[in-house]
Amino acid sequence: MTTDNKSLRPSATFPRHVLDEIHRAADEGIYEIRGFGAKRSLPGFDDLVFLGASMSRYPLEGYREKCATDVVLGTRYAKKPIELKIPITIAGMSFGALGANAKESLGRAATAMGTSTTTGDGGMTEEERQSSKTLIYQVLPSRYGLNPDDVRRADALEVVVGQGAKPGGGGMLLGHKITARVAQMRDLPEDIDQRSACRHPDWTGPDDLKIKIQELREITDWQIPIYIKIGAARVSYDVALAVKAGADVIVVDGMQGGTAATQDVFIEHVGIPTLPAVRMAVEALQEIGMHRKVQLIVSGGIRSGADAAKALALGADAVSIGSAAMVALGCNRKVFVEDYAALGTAPGYCHHCHTGRCPVGITTQDPKLEARLEPEQGARWVRNYLSTMVLEIQTLARACGKSHVLNLEPEDLVALTVEAAAMAKVPLAGTDWIPGGNK
Ligand code: SF4
Repeated sequence: MTTDNKSLRPSATFPRHVLDEIHRAADEGIYEIRGFGAKRSLPGFDDLVFLGASMSRYPLEGYREKCATDVVLGTRYAKKPIELKIPITIAGMSFGALGANAKESLGRAATAMGTSTTTGDGGMTEEERQSSKTLIYQVLPSRYGLNPDDVRRADALEVVVGQGAKPGGGGMLLGHKITARVAQMRDLPEDIDQRSACRHPDWTGPDDLKIKIQELREITDWQIPIYIKIGAARVSYDVALAVKAGADVIVVDGMQGGTAATQDVFIEHVGIPTLPAVRMAVEALQEIGMHRKVQLIVSGGIRSGADAAKALALGADAVSIGSAAMVALGCNRKVFVEDYAALGTAPGYCHHCHTGRCPVGITTQDPKLEARLEPEQGARWVRNYLSTMVLEIQTLARACGKSHVLNLEPEDLVALTVEAAAMAKVPLAGTDWIPGGNK
């Protein structure tokens, strides 16, 4: 056996993880199902930077001059729009995928911060309704857990057409997470793998969506906003159609969005990154004169105040966090290391939400594991994380001379790569060049 360097040279076409996946497929004969989000490197908000104020712009003084963060969502038709103190909401995550303690923690944190949280594919739990001052109730293709009483208890409805981790596909909940309570809420048998529908069974197109929205408005007496959530793919068309269907708010979820369980091939190979999705959604709204009239929430891989501030500068009205909120709850935290090892992983690498054996008690229905996440502690972590994000957004907005975070604008940004400049349509740093035109 030779031991020169060439013998140990890895293949760029067949690196270790590709070899492992082919071996796994050869052994098992089925695609990989997993949780979390895309692991590949994608163009993102890190590829943009702010142009802080200096001579030509005037920065605001952090300790004396206010930088407001409030936002109102659903001003188009609803009699009671959603008024939030911060431009960050908690994204939809299902009870079933998450345990009840995780849902309660998110609700408590959102309430403390003056923002909203969202149900998911599985209905509304009493814990999250009681702990969430502002709760958005999802209407999903599966209709799992959907009932008219809860529709009337919601502060807004979110009609889910797609998700960033899997546009065109549905989620999964494996049998070992379907306990008696989850089964009862979803009207499904216990312990049997469940697959969510990829499209609403009673719609064949956007005209049907318009009729459904009309029905939902009548059930709720035109009081509460109706959001439409789409997975980022053909964003320009989808946003225009969502406006036509009557949306008050549009949620665009980019490819970096997470999931509790779906095929790996979906997570890594379907949809477009959040960065171009924001710009496409904003342009689509501007073209029909609805920017800021129909509010835009952007999600998919938002991790920090910097990410959020950049999305706002590109024209979003708010951002939504899912995976990052779970990380704040302890996902991938370096504790219970032996339990990560039993799953064949380690803190920092885990994507095993689908197994129901979450070492930190978030994506599990096992009472012993779930007890590791105490709602008061979970809420404290998420609240601290949200507070940090808000301070970061304000810091950046003040540095750009803005007295409200929604006054951030594309002119405050430049891109560090040609790809990001083309996708976000902001100039490449040091130039006035926007690849693809300065439209
Ligand atoms: S730590 Fe829990 S929530 Fe995080 S990826 Fe692993 S199983 Fe999922």
